[in-house]
Amino acid sequence: MKTRSSRPALVLAALVAAFPAGAYEVHDSHFHLTNYVQQGTDIRDFLEIMGDKVGRVALFGIPLQQAWSYENSGDFAPTYYLQTDAPLYYYSFTDAWIASAYLSLGKKDRARFDPMITGFNPADMYAVDHIRRVLQVFPGVFTGIGEFTIHKEFVSSKVAGDVASLTDPALDRIFAFAGEAGLIVLIHNDIDMPFAAEGASPVYLRQMKELLLRHPRTTVIWAHAGMGRVVHPVQSEAGAAPAERPRNQAGLVEKLLEDPALGHLYFDISWSEVAKYIVATPESLQRAAHVINRFPDRILFGTDEVAPADQATYLRVYEQYGPLWPLLTAEAREKVRKGNYERLFDAARKKVRAWEEANVSKVAR
Ligand SMILES: [Zn+2]
Repeated sequence: MKTRSSRPALVLAALVAAFPAGAYEVHDSHFHLTNYVQQGTDIRDFLEIMGDKVGRVALFGIPLQQAWSYENSGDFAPTYYLQTDAPLYYYSFTDAWIASAYLSLGKKDRARFDPMITGFNPADMYAVDHIRRVLQVFPGVFTGIGEFTIHKEFVSSKVAGDVASLTDPALDRIFAFAGEAGLIVLIHNDIDMPFAAEGASPVYLRQMKELLLRHPRTTVIWAHAGMGRVVHPVQSEAGAAPAERPRNQAGLVEKLLEDPALGHLYFDISWSEVAKYIVATPESLQRAAHVINRFPDRILFGTDEVAPADQATYLRVYEQYGPLWPLLTAEAREKVRKGNYERLFDAARKKVRAWEEANVSKVAR
């Protein structure tokens, strides 16, 4: 009789057995080395945690600092945005922190990381200059930008200063430059408001689509397929004419992927909150598997883990997806786990290096 506690071990054992020795099991397109107070895992310890399971990692910090306001929480030092009413503010030094962690490694270990620039305020028309400056100060390091956030439950309203929006020309400058330099864009943008009423069209869908259509040359990964802790998967009103509206989140994602004008759009399925929705029922699993098998080139696995202390914690989202992997075709399984990461990030590395070659003065190198 299979006991509850042995199941995850069995799932993992079956997965491990499926991979030839030396071949990594999965790449992680979404990983935070540091948390909301810029504390994190030493990159050498993290290499140990990756071990022989995780091959490559899109590596970044968190561009927002959670302020510790004594008036607000006294001696209690918050480390997460839900732990205090004190504001969040943009923290640009995170890019130097990530670059120096990466540069402290040898060539072989560096090859397993794709550092990403996050330390900019997407509501600032000068943000694009920060991105260019980071490439000039740290040539040879970064592959993309993000994860950065526009609309995010509990967070966006806590950020000090101007509110970020999908219609802000500051964001168009960022997307345009990313397209020019070849930087992959990893964006967090809730597709809807928290606790949205059933049947209502997701509030941010149209603006997000228009932003993507304005930047066809920019490779964009939409983190978490737009879902969140309380930004539930879109549910359409029972009885609504299917032709008009996708039946649910999976249908909505499918519709976006079908659109030939959105060939530059990808989704990551990172975060335990997202995995929670996908593996919730046999139906939700089937729906997700159907979309992934139809568009195997467009979905990337990611953990969205933040500064994990050990491998079990780091791989919990991968394990959470245990029931999904067998439902995918062999092609889709390989691409979601590794192939799409390698294709997109290798292409971006090449383009960004070429941009640096052409634009970063020899002096700076
Ligand atoms: Zn994230």
